Amino acid sequence: MALYLRPLRLEDALAALGSQGLTVLAGGTDFYPARVGRPLDEDVLDITALAELRGIRDRGDHWSLGAGVTWSALREAALPPCFDGLKAAARELGGLQVQNAGTVVGNLCNASPAADGLPNLLALDARVELAGARGRRSLAIEDFVTGNRETQRRPDELVTAISIPKPAPDTASHFAKLGTRKYLVISIVMLAIVLEPEDGRVGAARLALGACAPVARRLRALEAELRGRTLDGGLGEALAESHMDDVLAPIDDVRASAAYRRDAAATLLRRGLASLGQRLGAAT
Ligand SMILES: Cc1cc2nc3c(=O)[nH]c(=O)nc-3n(C[C@H](O)[C@H](O)[C@H](O)COP(=O)(O)OP(=O)(O)OC[C@H]3O[C@@H](n4cnc5c(N)ncnc54)[C@H](O)[C@@H]3O)c2cc1C
Repeated sequence: MALYLRPLRLEDALAALGSQGLTVLAGGTDFYPARVGRPLDEDVLDITALAELRGIRDRGDHWSLGAGVTWSALREAALPPCFDGLKAAARELGGLQVQNAGTVVGNLCNASPAADGLPNLLALDARVELAGARGRRSLAIEDFVTGNRETQRRPDELVTAISIPKPAPDTASHFAKLGTRKYLVISIVMLAIVLEPEDGRVGAARLALGACAPVARRLRALEAELRGRTLDGGLGEALAESHMDDVLAPIDDVRASAAYRRDAAATLLRRGLASLGQRLGAAT
């Protein structure tokens, strides 16, 4: 019979993970659908009773989002506007039941190319905090997810939290998800933007596209192009096709053709930048 562990203390969870092969289970909203139609024959480490992993904490120079934080908890938390994009993903991901059980970290660890959380976490420059029986380490989010359903997590490690550095004051964010309908849909393209304003101009820009390649990616060339530009509704005009060259490797699938994904990504980028530029420009 398979083993089902639900420890109350993080150190017990890490010791168990270090001594035997266990599959980590958080909200189960990716875990169970992947096992429909076959018996649960693997040993499981259920982390839902670990109080240390709950909550979003202000740590001075960064925010710490525990591995137990569900999409609903994130949506309800009092957080600055740089989190608006991630909160928009929280509202659009699945339905309420999925948002109540599913965690942000589970979405990240599942590493689906269509994971709605990842573009936002990339644009927030997040880091992944890992702990194992051999110690703790921290990885930039870009280094953590390496491919479709592939991460740098070792089998004996747990992701304990996501760290998000505090950006400049008045930093704003935006998230757009394109699907064949508004809710309960797997994304065709997602876009996350974080803009840090500086004297009416773009001080720093971080943008990431999802569902257009095996892993969501930052648009570094566009970010460089945006730096120093005036914050207004014309910001979308900064986009050139070449800015997406390194980032897009879209596939043809049942949801959309590669050509449609490329076109939709450009449209979302232009609209998102125009809207955020106008909003931030009006506020200065
Ligand atoms: C009906 C439905 C609709 C959905 N809609 C969307 C959607 O619109 N957008 C979207 O992006 N996703 C969607 N999902 C997928 C899923 O809800 C999310 O990815 C969710 O955030 C997963 O979190 P979880 O806590 O349930 O993860 P789990 O299912 O518990 O775990 C997912 C994976 O991560 C690993 N894991 C979890 N936590 C940790 C940890 N702390 N350390 C190490 N490994 C860990 C698990 O071993 C497993 O491999 C949907 C799912 C369903 C069932």
